[in-house]
Amino acid sequence: MDKQELDELLDKFGIEDIFFDLVNSLSAVKGLSEIDSNASDETALVVNALNVLIDNQDMERCSFYLLNEDQYLVNVTGLSSDEHAAGKPLANYHPSKFKIGEGVIGLAAQTGELQFCNDCANDTRFQKGQQTEQCLFPRSLISVPVFADNKLLGILNISHPESNYFTDWHIRLLHIYKNMLGQLITNCRLFQKMDRQIANRTEKLEKALKNVEQLKDRYKNQAMIDDLTGLFNRRYFYIQAEMAIANTIRYGQVLCVLVIDIDFFKKLNDTYGHQCGDQVLIHVADMLNLQMRDSDILVRFGGEEFVVIFTNTTCKNGKIFAERIRETIEAAVYNYKDHQLKTTVSIGIYCLDQEHAKQSQKNLDEIIHRADLALYEAKATGRNKVTVFNSKLLEVK
Ligand code: GH3
Ligand code: MG
Ligand code: MG
Repeated sequence: MDKQELDELLDKFGIEDIFFDLVNSLSAVKGLSEIDSNASDETALVVNALNVLIDNQDMERCSFYLLNEDQYLVNVTGLSSDEHAAGKPLANYHPSKFKIGEGVIGLAAQTGELQFCNDCANDTRFQKGQQTEQCLFPRSLISVPVFADNKLLGILNISHPESNYFTDWHIRLLHIYKNMLGQLITNCRLFQKMDRQIANRTEKLEKALKNVEQLKDRYKNQAMIDDLTGLFNRRYFYIQAEMAIANTIRYGQVLCVLVIDIDFFKKLNDTYGHQCGDQVLIHVADMLNLQMRDSDILVRFGGEEFVVIFTNTTCKNGKIFAERIRETIEAAVYNYKDHQLKTTVSIGIYCLDQEHAKQSQKNLDEIIHRADLALYEAKATGRNKVTVFNSKLLEVK
């Protein structure tokens, strides 16, 4: 067979056209398979898919009618090759919609079968619906239902202004495309459902974590708070005092540690009862609290003993503040039942200055011990008084 005979044969059977159609179809299938179904927007996904069909096929006008929750088929694309070339849908585009059973599109939905119109102008099935004037009414139309898991998702349409335009070839291709489109939409919905579930679970998890944090804080605080007086306890003191001392050394400051002990408290308990003793403890704690600045540390150290740290405070000022505390408590009257009770405190002070700090006498227990020695001295020399530590007290011991 020479070349001329071959050309005639190709011409006679339109083999060249068939070949191009086949290549275009394969390109469309490839294009569809490359669409990422992990899209946040289902409409964008469908528009993408139809773009692929318009790009690779002679499907002049493609559209997709999604079945919405109200059981309406709503055109989410309205793409034609012109709009496609312009890269945007028609201006003033209002999506047309059909009820199930209405028009060719509605019939495809109702029957679940492909509907094929060779000439819409003379086809009783065809209804104009709510299409706007800008849209050209088609003469040729194929509407094919798209399913996933036996559930109708929507209708894929191709139309053309000429009658008798589409062939069996288009129908076969549409069967392939609708399956791929169905799968794409299903996957997209699955991804969206998963995203929602993940977001939901993440939110729940974040809430749970927040609750745990709050509970942790509460228990942490509870473990550091004295039930009776509401003041911080010894545990809190050790954490805060370590930090205060470290800062004092780092910034070249001074601080004062006070040990405050209620005088003859046992006698008070013995005379008026333990409950009365508790009330006096609360009362003294409140009075101490009122005298504190934000930067001070006040804790109930144990029994009827309180410890205070005045940060960045000289020995002279620490003694003035301590004296003020002693006077306030001495002056206060506490009413318990019919009794008017008065109490006093003794206070021992240890002042940590830079010199002491440099001598490594910054061990917390040692500091407390020195304030305690000063307190013993105050008790031993009459009570209801403030005594500042001096190194002679170490010798007495
Ligand atoms: P001093 O002047 O030497 O400090 O004598 P004191 O009686 O205050 O000291 P002592 O250490 O002999 O007694 C302290 C008492 O405090 C004994 C203890 O039963 C009592 N106490 C400790 N904790 C509490 C408490 O939470 N509530 C009550 N009501 N009493 C407490
Ligand atoms: Mg006491
Ligand atoms: Mg005591």
